[in-house]
Amino acid sequence: MLKFIDHNIVFQEVPNEVSLAINISNCPLRCKNCHSPQLQEDIGFCLTQDAILYIIKKYNRAITCICFMGGDSEPLEIEKLAIFVKSITPKLKIAWYSGKQKLPKAFQIKYFDFIKLGPYKGKYGGLDSLDTNQRFYKIIDNELIDMTFLFQKERI
Ligand code: SF4
Repeated sequence: MLKFIDHNIVFQEVPNEVSLAINISNCPLRCKNCHSPQLQEDIGFCLTQDAILYIIKKYNRAITCICFMGGDSEPLEIEKLAIFVKSITPKLKIAWYSGKQKLPKAFQIKYFDFIKLGPYKGKYGGLDSLDTNQRFYKIIDNELIDMTFLFQKERI
């Protein structure tokens, strides 16, 4: 069972969207220079369908996107939750921030609008770095379209 430690409204993780970010714990990736080491612990509340429903209702029309932050220990659970969210609020966009460089086998991207891939590596920087190993994709017609450039400013 996936667990989450908290949730908050964010504006930068998904460009042009007001996102409800759900911060999922038990991250298996152990990146050096992890920005949130507490997310590596198996702590928090169970991320059930009821929990998601409660959180979405709380923010109601204030959000345009729900963003699952993490969940690499059980990616197929993320997929199931995305299917659930689409079934109850088809207009809400769905994003997933994964720390893995590749998608899991048989993962169905059609339930998502955005997916970020790649662990955080300090020497390459995050999505706003021109050297980053991370990629941010928009899903269009079941294809991953690289939109990482939206986070980046050109080198002067
Ligand atoms: S993926 Fe994110 S939360 Fe997980 S170890 Fe890496 S930086 Fe930390």
